[in-house]
Amino acid sequence: MGYKINTKCILSGYSPKNGEPRQLPVYQSTTYKYDSSVEMGKLFDLEASGYFYTRLQNPTNDAVAAKIADLEGGVGAMLTSSGQAASFYSVFNIACAGDHIVSSAAIYGGTFNLFNVTMRKLGIDFTFISPQATEEEIQAAFKPNTKAVFAETLSNPALEVLDIETFAKVAHANGVPLIVDNTFPTPVNCRPFEFGADIVIHSTTKYMDGHATSVGGVVVDSGNFDWTQNDKFPGLTTPDDSYHGITYTERFGKLAYITKATAQLMRDLGSIPSPFNAFLLNLGLETLPLRVERHCQNALKVAQFIKESGYAVEVTYPGLEGSRGYELAKKYMPDGTSGVISFRIKGGREAATKFMDSLKIAEIATHVADARTCCLHPASTTHRQLTAQELIDCGISDDLIRLSVGIEHVDDIIADVKQALEASNK
Ligand SMILES: *Cc1c(COP(=O)(O)O)cnc(C)c1O
Repeated sequence: MGYKINTKCILSGYSPKNGEPRQLPVYQSTTYKYDSSVEMGKLFDLEASGYFYTRLQNPTNDAVAAKIADLEGGVGAMLTSSGQAASFYSVFNIACAGDHIVSSAAIYGGTFNLFNVTMRKLGIDFTFISPQATEEEIQAAFKPNTKAVFAETLSNPALEVLDIETFAKVAHANGVPLIVDNTFPTPVNCRPFEFGADIVIHSTTKYMDGHATSVGGVVVDSGNFDWTQNDKFPGLTTPDDSYHGITYTERFGKLAYITKATAQLMRDLGSIPSPFNAFLLNLGLETLPLRVERHCQNALKVAQFIKESGYAVEVTYPGLEGSRGYELAKKYMPDGTSGVISFRIKGGREAATKFMDSLKIAEIATHVADARTCCLHPASTTHRQLTAQELIDCGISDDLIRLSVGIEHVDDIIADVKQALEASNK
């Protein structure tokens, strides 16, 4: 579809026929009825497409996945029950025990734990590099068994903007895909496939849902990566015994990666969202461009205010001229970055606590990126499992505050931030 993204957010994924419900129906059904066992058998062999069990596919979930695939410009997508599940599936779909992944160190705390602790226990090794690594530095992290490069387009909470083209170039030179987490910019502000990324994931829990109702995730396949160019991806290019010897690249072509993720990993691991949560996600997607635009406008004004207030050692908002990441953001996210600001408050950890406790509109919450303004001190919450060195490596100091600017009136947000800043150094 050649529509602009605002139109796609409304129309993609579901087109009711004459007399059918205008809004996407919630197919709250675990299973589907068939007239003959022969027909059903074909589905089990992936010879025919159709629904037979919601763990594998569900019409509501599929419509929402198709919408997100269209927003990103991909060939297919799979919804998951959380962003964590999406991160895990995106990597585990092409890596197993004995393999290695190069990952940016500036990633969400939960993703870091997943990679650094849990996936290591599965025998997958990780090397973490700076998101600002040069081509040579990225290359130096590669091993013969490296299967992918992973990074966040706009990192949570450090707000590092990824040089997507550089990371994609080095990944491709080594015959592996670039997987990016595009949660913060959303496809409204950044479409990583246009810059060479191969797989995109999201925590849909954030702006896409937008109202803090449903935890969810999605994996999107660009269809662009050639899995047959080398012998690094036997899971895609050699027969799958658990599907009567299907070879995904032969049978599904550009859809090989996302079909394997659904038919094999989702079948076996089962982290599907409930159709009702997918329905709520779809409602969020309908207004995503409006909300993202307002989040960005408000955040820019709040970032400017904090910078000029004199209470911050440093303000990071890549949409703000002079901020770290501004030049990269102009290239990769020209219409805006996100509603999330981080700043280092004068007066250290103590001032950070006073600031947070003085806020009235902005709530203290471990959440970010929804309609309400909220605030978090990463060093004592989301990132508290990390060692002092790991905190430094992912850019989190103990005076760092993350402010997720909502869509309340900006004058009210600024007044709230102002009185809390004044209280912070009393
Ligand atoms: C929240 C978040 C995740 C994890 O998503 P959940 O939906 O909480 O499981 C992953 N990546 C980023 C960038 C996030 O902000």
